[in-house]
Amino acid sequence: MATVTDYFGSMVFDDRVMRATLTAEVYGSLKKTIDEGAALDIKVANAVASAMKDWAVSKGATHFTHWFQPLTGITAEKHDSFISPSPDGGVIMEFSGKELIKGEPDASSFPSGGLRATFEARGYTAWDPTSYAFIKGKTLCIPTAFCSYGGHALDKKTPLLRSMEALNKQALRILRLFGNDEVKYVRSSVGPEQEYFLITKEMYDARPDLKYCGRTLIGAKPPKGQEMDDHYFGVIKPRVAAFMEELNDELWKLGVLVKTEHNEVAPAQHELAPIYSTTNVATDHNQLTMEIMQKVAARHGLVCLLHEKPFAGVNGSGKHNNWSIATDRGQNLLSPGETPYENAQFLLFLCAVIKAVDDYQDLLRISVATAGNDHRLGANEAPPAVVSMFLGDELDGILSAIENDAPYQGVKKEQMKLGVHVLPRFNRDTTDRNRTSPFAFTGNKFEFRMLGSSNSIACANIMLNSAVAESLKIYADRLEGAEDFESALHEMIKKTIKDHRRIIFNGNGYDDAWIREATEVRGLLNYRTTADCMPHLLDKKNVDMLTSHGVFTVEELRSRRDIMLENYCKTVKIEANTLVDMARSSVAPAVEKYSADLARNAEAKRALDGSLALSYETRLVRKLSSLTDSIADRTAALEDALIAVHDAGNVVEESKAIRDSILPKMCELRVACDEAETLTDRSYWPYPTYADILFSVR
Ligand code: ADP
Ligand code: MG
Repeated sequence: MATVTDYFGSMVFDDRVMRATLTAEVYGSLKKTIDEGAALDIKVANAVASAMKDWAVSKGATHFTHWFQPLTGITAEKHDSFISPSPDGGVIMEFSGKELIKGEPDASSFPSGGLRATFEARGYTAWDPTSYAFIKGKTLCIPTAFCSYGGHALDKKTPLLRSMEALNKQALRILRLFGNDEVKYVRSSVGPEQEYFLITKEMYDARPDLKYCGRTLIGAKPPKGQEMDDHYFGVIKPRVAAFMEELNDELWKLGVLVKTEHNEVAPAQHELAPIYSTTNVATDHNQLTMEIMQKVAARHGLVCLLHEKPFAGVNGSGKHNNWSIATDRGQNLLSPGETPYENAQFLLFLCAVIKAVDDYQDLLRISVATAGNDHRLGANEAPPAVVSMFLGDELDGILSAIENDAPYQGVKKEQMKLGVHVLPRFNRDTTDRNRTSPFAFTGNKFEFRMLGSSNSIACANIMLNSAVAESLKIYADRLEGAEDFESALHEMIKKTIKDHRRIIFNGNGYDDAWIREATEVRGLLNYRTTADCMPHLLDKKNVDMLTSHGVFTVEELRSRRDIMLENYCKTVKIEANTLVDMARSSVAPAVEKYSADLARNAEAKRALDGSLALSYETRLVRKLSSLTDSIADRTAALEDALIAVHDAGNVVEESKAIRDSILPKMCELRVACDEAETLTDRSYWPYPTYADILFSVR
């Protein structure tokens, strides 16, 4: 039997294949493009394309596609075959450098937020040579960026690459100041932990809400939920194990470094985590992972739910974005060092992140905002919508000592002086694993925990890279002009801690008292919904920062705000329409039928014993009757509200109307439906219950 080492990456045109199939000259030139962003010569592109095609064809591929990530949040591909007619009536397989470098899919059906007039439907895709090409099915997929003809980014990849470049540029300036001349480039790396639910196809098919919305819109709490904590890290059921095994194999062949898998807190919930990689590669791989999860699940008669909150009252699914920055020499810049100089450098990078998170709380919140994730943030399971940072007591102690010119216990009762004293060794493993913090330092990386399970990780990392690049730029500007580097450094670190201490919170982020303190005392932002936060993408400070680093143009930001808000509105409207339909055509009739049978029984009972006392049946019929009235009234109210939002005028106003009227009305209707569910004989209820769904996979 083939072992993992034999087939890992077998479907990837990776470095091993490049070395084996390209001449030394072509390989060297391509490597320079990959590592240092050098321009690519068309002759080199032709040679690479030809080798890529031969390799792909030998693996059974017949087509190629420029694989890209439009603003829909999923990936897109348009397949072209390699065939080209030959004079003898047959075909040859062809693929040119031009086809590798640039593609021209019809862009007219992808959201552009007004960036592309419809008469100018064409967009183009451009090869991202830093992410390896791979084969999916019979198609060679070439990771690409997607732009309009005017040069505006229409995807998530382009700004991600730009943000990585911005971070690289500013981080290199800092490293040079510390005398580090060897480093060629600095990149951020990410390991995203992915949560998901697995349920059976039969249950899924019986629930229109799951089919159309990815989440249940009604459903009473199951008698057994997650209160026993018996699912978390529990034994994996055979059917799930078979799914995971096949998923791992598929992803390994695609070069995805899948590492861990386990059951999560909720019944039917699981997690997969890869070993971290460079941010753009990690982003591509996470998109692939989500896609392959759904495909493999289907082969097992299962459905993989990636929605952030498929079941109310049951834990939702998130994605932890583990992020750090490292040099091409493998030095993690968020890892405390051995020498005083390394330590000072580490503290400066740490401060850059602290400043970035405080200054751009809003951008981080915006980067994870979707209708689905709004259900999760602030519920008692995921970090709140308030952004704060966890550093752990030891690191906090060190920062406080610096801030107050006070001695720190590990430093022999002297004042901590950067560049002179070795930092006290703080033990990585004792950093308390604070699970409630939205942004936690975990020894040598930060874990940003606000992402929703279905979010592309691109947005969060665009904002993170850009905001940290901005801090570093401010530091570099100051330090490059300093007369005394060390004292300037010390002062700047001190100032950062003083100015941004409010963002550091080591306590329980789920506590209501914290939310009050955060907003009322510390003045931190609390944007509860997408409608609240998204307009702030266009706040001057955000536009200035993002445009100054070349990550977005103003037009791109404007279009993105509109697209994200449109997504939000559309999502909720589809949900509301689905709920109206379910309540009116299935729930209410089912309750009616049951009530009618109960009423008949009540009649029969009365005829039998002539008692005037209210029977069980009569009392229940009355209760159900008032519930069906509520269901009918609330359905009508929701429908009216849906009609009213059409008149909102623009997408910002519409999103507010959705938040203030549609969502609350959906909740009210749901409450009536869920109460009816608990009172109705199971055999009358039109849908599988939460218990049926959550315990469906055995
Ligand atoms: P957990 O958070 O569950 O304890 P780990 O801390 O081992 O697990 O890692 C979680 C994720 O963080 C993994 O995907 C891992 O590869 C990633 N990770 C580890 N080190 C780094 C790093 N330096 N940069 C980015 N991600 C990292
Ligand atoms: Mg983790």
